[in-house]
Amino acid sequence: RYLKGKEIRKLFLDYFAKHGHEIVPSSPLVPADDPTLLFTNAGMVQFKKVFLGQEERPYKRAASCQKCVRAGGKHNDLENVGYTARHHTFFEMLGNFSFGDYFKEEAIYYAWDFLTKVLELPKERLYVTVYKDDDEAFSLWQKIAGLPAERIVRLGEKDNFWAMGDTGPCGPCSEIIFDQGPEVGCGRPDCQVGCDCDRYLELWNLVFMQYERDEKGNLSPLPRPCIDTGMGLERITATIQGVKTNFDCDLFAGLMAKISDLTGFIYGEDKKRDVAFRVIADHSRAAAFLIADGVLPSNEGRGYVLRRIIRRAVRFGRTLGLEKPFLYDTASVVVEEMSDVYPELLRAAQTIEKILVLEEERFRETLERGLALLEEELKKLSQAGQKVIPGAFIFKLYDTYGFPYDIVRDIALERGFELDMLGFEKEMAKQRERSRKAWKGEMAKAPQVFIKLLEKGLGKEFVGYETTEAEAEIL
Ligand code: ATP
Ligand code: MG
Ligand code: MG
Ligand code: MG
Repeated sequence: RYLKGKEIRKLFLDYFAKHGHEIVPSSPLVPADDPTLLFTNAGMVQFKKVFLGQEERPYKRAASCQKCVRAGGKHNDLENVGYTARHHTFFEMLGNFSFGDYFKEEAIYYAWDFLTKVLELPKERLYVTVYKDDDEAFSLWQKIAGLPAERIVRLGEKDNFWAMGDTGPCGPCSEIIFDQGPEVGCGRPDCQVGCDCDRYLELWNLVFMQYERDEKGNLSPLPRPCIDTGMGLERITATIQGVKTNFDCDLFAGLMAKISDLTGFIYGEDKKRDVAFRVIADHSRAAAFLIADGVLPSNEGRGYVLRRIIRRAVRFGRTLGLEKPFLYDTASVVVEEMSDVYPELLRAAQTIEKILVLEEERFRETLERGLALLEEELKKLSQAGQKVIPGAFIFKLYDTYGFPYDIVRDIALERGFELDMLGFEKEMAKQRERSRKAWKGEMAKAPQVFIKLLEKGLGKEFVGYETTEAEAEIL
């Protein structure tokens, strides 16, 4: 049956409310008290302390629809966006959680019941994976879902064992997979569940937190095992709507229509242009949500991830002929369409617009010149029969023209070149050393009151907004 993305979000929360779960609002994209984490990248982030037993809540089961960003840091999907059917930098994660209450059996039951009874997904197209040693999960899937053994796939540590960190709670996972059919994905004859292409689409990940790992790597059973699950709203929506990529579901329709209006092109007509459509749509959402949560473009930390997102979108916009700032315009669609669920977007609407115009205008001052230079370089390399863009050159584009390396990477991909990332890293390290020395000298000269102001975060380009932790780190 056809359901809108918004309806699926609501059906999910209603289902888990009906089964005794407290509905907890999404937490901000900047984690409240977790400096180890760049952005909230899963529903469980706001419950970390509850899982660790360091915080008590008046409920033992919860469900949420969590804003997530996976760009920069450990979970980085930025470079996938545009090229795969299923990855975003910003997405919404539906999740249900048990804090020492129910465990594997109920978690499997709820997930299966919701997908096959509430959403009416066809059972024949579903597979599940379990951790290779998790016989318990294997037989529960047989019992609860009636799945034949050949559709329960055992995978190893990399895919199906989850850990909060090097030590602490951890455990096996189980993923629910939807087969999109042989016409989607890599098309290799040996493509199967676990392949990294888009055919066997991972919809939902169930984490069974049942061990605690100590410094020596030993596992001991947790006294009260917990459940943490996550399902991407965009993926399940695309699946329900029978479309092959997240970007074809109704959650993106308004954005795609806007990009069409601006460019005169239509999404789905040309493979190369479609990459640009997807990047712009995705990055508009990420930029709007990040700014609404207080992140501003900068050269370090969270702010730099935002800058990379914005600049990457601008470069792709140019491939569609967009010569003037447009991101404020595409981001306004995000504000319009999503403020009902995320009112922070509406509150920040003007800030989002201003910041995006500023950042885009600023980048456009150097974009053309940088691209022309890159063009010359590629020509030179081609003539010399070389395929690798030197690290020093990537650094020059970064340092003088404000090109985050992702942009060079995208162009290299389009044109069949490779990047000398090692060389680039070396140049970056040299620069860090230079600025460390220079900064020490400057600080010695700076009057005390100015240093105080900097410490308070007033030394940035944009004054008057909240300073995020990561930006404060620079100062
Ligand atoms: P994949 O293997 O497809 O990259 P994952 O195993 O990294 O996904 P999890 O960390 O298990 O993903 O996150 C739980 C769920 O969140 C996934 O099953 C998927 O539905 C969704 N999800 C994860 N990453 C993204 C993303 N970048 N964009 C959209 N949805 C995502
Ligand atoms: Mg992933
Ligand atoms: Mg996975
Ligand atoms: Mg997973």
